[in-house]
Amino acid sequence: MSLRKPSPGAGREAARPSPRPGILEIAPYVGGDSELPGIAKPVKLASNESALGPSPKAVAAYHGCADSLHRYPDGGHGRLREAIARRHDLDAARIVCGNGSDELLTLLAKAYAGAGDEVLYTEHGFLIYPIAALAAGATPVAVPEKDLRTDVDALLERVSGKTRIVFLANPNNPTGSYISRDELGRLRRGLPGDVLLVVDAAYAEFVDAGDYSPGADLVAESDNTVMTRTFSKIHALAALRLGWALCPPAVADVLNRVRGPFNLNGPAQAAGIAALEDAAWEDRARAHNARWRRWLTEELTRLGLHVHPSVANFLLVRFGNDAERGAAAADRFLRAQGIILRRVDNYGLPDCLRVTIGREEEMQMLVSALGRFLGRS
Ligand SMILES: *Cc1c(COP(=O)(O)O)cnc(C)c1O
Repeated sequence: MSLRKPSPGAGREAARPSPRPGILEIAPYVGGDSELPGIAKPVKLASNESALGPSPKAVAAYHGCADSLHRYPDGGHGRLREAIARRHDLDAARIVCGNGSDELLTLLAKAYAGAGDEVLYTEHGFLIYPIAALAAGATPVAVPEKDLRTDVDALLERVSGKTRIVFLANPNNPTGSYISRDELGRLRRGLPGDVLLVVDAAYAEFVDAGDYSPGADLVAESDNTVMTRTFSKIHALAALRLGWALCPPAVADVLNRVRGPFNLNGPAQAAGIAALEDAAWEDRARAHNARWRRWLTEELTRLGLHVHPSVANFLLVRFGNDAERGAAAADRFLRAQGIILRRVDNYGLPDCLRVTIGREEEMQMLVSALGRFLGRS
């Protein structure tokens, strides 16, 4: 008889590590395609990147970092947070920056939800929300929308003792719809105090509706609401991964504990500061978007397509049921012409395509190609 204790690993030699429950239910997020076989420069209207590209000042600031790549970046993002605070008239101490707002959404789910908890989002809400919930071990719950809009009553009805977080994209991607400041306030007031409301306002800068608020006022009034923003859309810096959250002090403290110490690289911080200081460039991007969003809506409607009203920098376009003229056929046709839109089957919208507002010539190309597809030209 051996006097040695059996090793704790005995009998497990053939076993394999397995992830926590929920992880293998995640359908990995797939970004919009950028390439088409055999086409040198496709027209990419699939990822809501700003049509005009970033401010030249932001690009110059990025280049200006080339000589200091050996230095660690500012882990507290001090100058960037101050630039955001100045630009938006906010308290820099309540701002936490992330490697894209996706990182912040994921960290919020990990910090505030876990096994047995529920995370609510709307039926056609941004797909990062269920991914973040599952990655945290929590259960994502999709709540029905009404006419492709957030239904505040349905969200409030679905709240249970297990609800920990409500993620709301306002405006929402891919529907382009929004709820008003009053509706957002009503949602907050109807939620229990210990439910964190995360308002993802990635497209806030494009919205020109008078009754809209990105949610900063709500964050200031409550200690259970967070607003997230991004440099990926109007500032056109998607490649650099720059997002930020306006938080109650206790939530900022939590995010600063769980985030990586150097989650934002130096060139990204420098470019972000320069982008915020170039208000004229932002105004140009906003004006371009408003003009071409209106134009494209009219042209597509004229072609007999249904365009959902959008306040963002993209349109959700509904095609007919006829397979030959449907969304999938349109997508194949357009790709053959070098134009990439976004299929939204995985958002439960198989009869729709999402199109980003692009440059003038891109919009013209799209409309003539769709005219040919529909036999209207
Ligand atoms: C594009 C987008 C974001 C931005 O994500 P980043 O990680 O900051 O690039 C966030 N939310 C929604 C709804 C979006 O469409």
